[in-house]
Amino acid sequence: MTRLVIYCMDCEWSASTEDHSRSDQSVLAIDHHVATGHTIESTRRERGEPAEGWAEEWPPTE
Ligand SMILES: [Zn+2]
Repeated sequence: MTRLVIYCMDCEWSASTEDHSRSDQSVLAIDHHVATGHTIESTRRERGEPAEGWAEEWPPTE
């Protein structure tokens, strides 16, 4: 499952679809931009990646 995370380039502000609906995210991002003038970016994250499957492959065996 993919979740969309939107975040601020200028401060620690962020909102994930885990916590907000997509429409809520849009409103929150616009509110933050209007209130602060900060730049909002968005990124897609695969749920459970890379946290799952990492432990067994680490440390790398070479
Ligand atoms: Zn900000």
